[in-house]
Amino acid sequence: MYQDFQKHLQSTLNEIKEAGLYKNERVIVSPQTAAIQVQSDNVQGTKEQEVINFCANNYLGLADNAELIQAAKDRMDKRGYGMASVRFICGTQDTHKELERVISDFFGTEDTILYAACFDANGGLFEPLLTEEDAIISDALNHASIIDGVRLCKAVRYRYANGDMADLEEQLKKAQAQRFRIIATDGVFSMDGNVCPLDKIYELAQKYNALVMVDESHSAGVVGKTGHGVTELYNMRGKVEIITGTLGKAFGGSVGGFTTGRKEIIDLLRQRSRPYLFSNSIPPMIAAAGIKTFEILTRSNELQDRLHENTAYFVARMKAAGFDIKPTQSAICAVMLYDAKLSQVFAAELQKEGIYVTGFYYPVVPKGQARIRVQVSAAHTREQLDKCIAAFTKIGTKLAVLKNK
Ligand SMILES: *Cc1c(COP(=O)(O)O)cnc(C)c1O
Repeated sequence: MYQDFQKHLQSTLNEIKEAGLYKNERVIVSPQTAAIQVQSDNVQGTKEQEVINFCANNYLGLADNAELIQAAKDRMDKRGYGMASVRFICGTQDTHKELERVISDFFGTEDTILYAACFDANGGLFEPLLTEEDAIISDALNHASIIDGVRLCKAVRYRYANGDMADLEEQLKKAQAQRFRIIATDGVFSMDGNVCPLDKIYELAQKYNALVMVDESHSAGVVGKTGHGVTELYNMRGKVEIITGTLGKAFGGSVGGFTTGRKEIIDLLRQRSRPYLFSNSIPPMIAAAGIKTFEILTRSNELQDRLHENTAYFVARMKAAGFDIKPTQSAICAVMLYDAKLSQVFAAELQKEGIYVTGFYYPVVPKGQARIRVQVSAAHTREQLDKCIAAFTKIGTKLAVLKNK
């Protein structure tokens, strides 16, 4: 039986390879931080190379933070390794409740529910809240987990072009046919680094009687003067009904997701959200490190300030060097190269210079929109940023992609 299926799989894998879309995992043999050790050709025992990492979601540099590691160790000693249960049977410790409280305080919301990942938070969000009588109006560039969450729900789906408020208004007019409406958007779109126009979305939501859901995965910890996300940027704290987010990016870079917002919404999710009801509780050590993360971020604005300084510095220098940079309001800097092959060659050349980045091309971004996505971190030193800019300029000159040069 397996032989036929194996042939089928092999031919699918070959198609992926021939299309140049096959993904190889690149192996790191050090903690996740600004300077990392990688296996140069992904084979154990081969030469290791030190590179400066510009492709992690480690925006605040907390992924190897000593305080978080200590908080996790201490809680593991006190409360053990795992919960061996979903939350509602016997998987809830005081640690989980405290983390939920801390997240609500951070976002200025009424209540919070934890998930194993934000993928689960989004996957389990819509189905319990809406029926076929209702509508979801979703930004075309929303994260895969929102798209999947929408698919799992019976509500009528509407899609609007990325950040296009005229289109959103059109869709909202059509959606008046339904009972309730939720507008769903990413806070920061991960391929360009642009923020959603939350002020205008909210205005339209008021006008057309809709709720607003924002996924703050790439924006919380990053956007806003004190890193409280797009609701801070637009001075809209407490206004949005539903916020989802992850502990896997700025907030420590480990695992865990959450939905935070209106009390009744969170309460119903605890009763009906399937990834919450049927998937294991996060380990106490992860929850404890999560609590410590928010303590660090409320204690001082040092990491946010450094991230904002680093990003402004990097983007300004790259533009001055002649690179074509997508407008960004986050720590994501998309260096446009347009050509898919060029983006791969450029990224490989950069790795030889000790700069670790990823080139993205179709289908991750639209055809003819290939780019290298640089993610700036508070962990980067000025010297590391300068090395990156110098390497980009060297390869950019060699491959003749600089403007006005
Ligand atoms: C990364 C990301 C997720 C998934 O978060 P996990 O906690 O890793 O599952 C969801 N939504 C958006 C917008 C993201 O960028």
